[in-house]
This record gives sequence, structure tokens and C-alpha cells, in this order.
Amino acid sequence: MVYPVPNSGFSRTYVLVAEDELAVVDPGSVGAAEDTKRFIEKELRREMRDLTAIMATHFHIDHIGGIGTLLSCSGPEARVFFHERVRDYLEKKRPISSMKNWYLGLRPAAWKSVRYLRKATHLMFDGPAGIPLPGFKNLSSLPYDRERIVFFGGKRERRYPLGFGGWEVIETPGHTEDSVSFFREATRELVCGDLIINMEKNGRGRLNRFYSSRDEIMASLDFLLRTVQVKTVYPGHGEPVRSESNALLGVETFEK
Ligand SMILES: [Zn+2]
Repeated sequence: MVYPVPNSGFSRTYVLVAEDELAVVDPGSVGAAEDTKRFIEKELRREMRDLTAIMATHFHIDHIGGIGTLLSCSGPEARVFFHERVRDYLEKKRPISSMKNWYLGLRPAAWKSVRYLRKATHLMFDGPAGIPLPGFKNLSSLPYDRERIVFFGGKRERRYPLGFGGWEVIETPGHTEDSVSFFREATRELVCGDLIINMEKNGRGRLNRFYSSRDEIMASLDFLLRTVQVKTVYPGHGEPVRSESNALLGVETFEK
């Protein structure tokens, strides 16, 4: 079961509820981490020590910038899950992906995301890691111990178990090279990061025009269309997209 944290700032934070554990995807700012803690305690009436996994769909500041804050109020067992590619960023073997289409891709979505900013801490990050601008792309030190990080993937498979409550990882590069989605077959829920965004209420969602590779992001949507039937898409920015048949079928894509 997925719960979007209401008004979690610029990007969307999600709480995944399994039987006796919780996971959080993309706590992107200090404010998002604070909102998530409050949501877990007040709305879900669970304790922060139930939070065992904090995942990122990709290594961009607006998706990782609250992980340290959230981790500092979780139990000692809580771990941070990143794609294997992030190890290279942290070890400075590789800079994060260069982004294209800033004006047509990022600007309109960023403008529409402003309505989700509710307080100053939604623009505060617990470190400078994950800024996709030249000159910042190698900044990757994190405010928590490397022992708290678990890396997944980086092998041949594109789809594999995450190890949390029946959730799988599906590698969906294109927005960035480390972009992944999280999918749960039993409930047909897909948390897709910035592969798809949906800034309109009751919108169908669209393939993100802000990407590092147009071919890869198109291929990732094609891969999902061929392999999964999704009831609810939870995008990296904006509102969920729902359909009883397959919510991916309505997603607006690019002209070939
Ligand atoms: Zn984003």
C-alpha cells in the first residue's frame, strides 16, 4: 500500500506500508522529512522505528535532500537504498548525469510544483549532493555513514526483488542513468520517480521531457508497457495516475 505524503514539497514523497515495516521513497528536502515523520506518527499511527528502508528513485537533490534528516529520527536498523550506480558518484568515479531540455522540460513542471511548497524547509536540503549542474555534479558527500547504505542492481537483470514487502526494483533509466521504479505486482502499484510526471489533477501523466537521454527514457516506458499492468502510477512530481486496466496506456509520450 502506498501513501503519498501530502504537500511534501517540490517532489513527491511516498510511504510504503508492508505488514510490520515501513519504507519511504524520495524524501527530497528537510521539510519533506519532517512532513513524512508527522504523517507516519499522526496519520498512520505508526512509530518511526518501524521505518526500515529509505529509497531514492534517483540521485537528484530534490529526491534525496531529506534522507539524512529522516534517518536521524529513525531507528538504528533503518537503511538507505540506492542503485549501484550511485556508488560511483559517491566514490567520485563518475559525475551524475548531464541533463537536457532545461527550458522546455524542467521549467514548466518546476513552475507547477511551486504550489506544493508550503514552508521554508521545503527548500532546505541536508547536503549539496545530487545537483545536476556543471560544477556541482561531483558533489556527493552525504551526511550519514556509508554503513547505512545498501546498493542494489548493477547486474544484468532489469527487474529484481527489493527485499521489502513484495516490492521489486525495475530499472528505468533515461531521466538519469541511475533512475529506477519500484513495483508491487500484488497491488499493481508503480512508484516511478521522474520517468513520468503528472502535474494535473485527474491527468494521465506524461513522459518527462527533462531527461539525460531521450532514447533511454522512451525505451524505459516501452519496457514497462511490455512487462507490467499498472493500476496506480505514483510519479516523482504531482498527482497519482489511476486506471483499472493499465494506467501506463494513457501516459503521453514523445513524437517518434
Ligand atoms: Zn525530480
